[in-house]
Amino acid sequence: MSVLEVKDLTVNYETKRGPVRAAEGISFSVKKGQSLGLAGESGCGKTTVALSLMRLLPKAGRILKGQINLDGRNLLNLTDREMRQVRWRDMSIVFQGAMNALDPVYKIGDQIIEAIRTHDKEVSKEECRERAAKLLELVGIDPERVDGYPHEFSGGMRQRALIAMALACNPKLVIADEPGTALDVIVQAQVLRLMRDLKEKLDLSMILISHDLSIIAETCERVVIMYAGNIAEYGSTPSVFHEPLHPYTQGLLQAFPDIRGERKRLSSVPGQPPDLLNPPVGCRFNPRCPYVMDVCKKVQPPLIELRPDHYVACHLYPDKM
Ligand code: SF4
Repeated sequence: MSVLEVKDLTVNYETKRGPVRAAEGISFSVKKGQSLGLAGESGCGKTTVALSLMRLLPKAGRILKGQINLDGRNLLNLTDREMRQVRWRDMSIVFQGAMNALDPVYKIGDQIIEAIRTHDKEVSKEECRERAAKLLELVGIDPERVDGYPHEFSGGMRQRALIAMALACNPKLVIADEPGTALDVIVQAQVLRLMRDLKEKLDLSMILISHDLSIIAETCERVVIMYAGNIAEYGSTPSVFHEPLHPYTQGLLQAFPDIRGERKRLSSVPGQPPDLLNPPVGCRFNPRCPYVMDVCKKVQPPLIELRPDHYVACHLYPDKM
């Protein structure tokens, strides 16, 4: 059963130059205990989707249509007050850049306690403190450090503390937005291993956002590949990674080295992502696609299930449309 079901989510940012069409027709689901990766180049709409799920878009962001069903309840129909109850208790987010997400003048433990007490006023301060210490232990930090300040923690520890905060109210779903971006590769690997272990241990559902496909391949069971605000390809990770159908996914995968396979020159996807103030008509990838056809410049391809649990939006597969 799906914990989260997103249907036809469409988000714009209002700017003086006109609306930026940041995400259009986004549909995917996450089952209980499953992890889903959201991948794509910077600016493709990954973080917009994450912030829309939490209803934390910046002021200029507008959700124009769609549904975000969490356990069967459409979050877009909730009042702000109801939504505040959902955040952290049902769904939480680990933001990128741990130093920016933590308040430097409050102790780490107090910040975790605040998250708990905001959602559960019945719990005493002592219980909260105990829970905060246990959460720190769960993410591999000495519980004695509960009274430490963010500047006394290393980058990896701060990221772990943020994960502990995200777990404070036992949410069903955790969104991790580029959780290891600011960390060196060793610490990044430790943080990702931690997320994977916690997912197994707590039977959590997880959405992991990353531009790094190798991280998603290692961590997630399913993957959504986004391009310029649309879903290009979506499905089970082994299927998408071993038999990519969309020319963009194929290009992305060729840009990553294989440490086990033969040595070969890496290629990149030529060109630049489009300006979403005025995206290309039809398939948004058409200016960069080596297989572009006339129809691609006129008609936006729908997302179709070409193989079991493997969806693609591309006119190269017309007989299935
Ligand atoms: Fe390329 Fe056309 Fe497929 Fe878009 S729809 S990826 S332009 S072949």
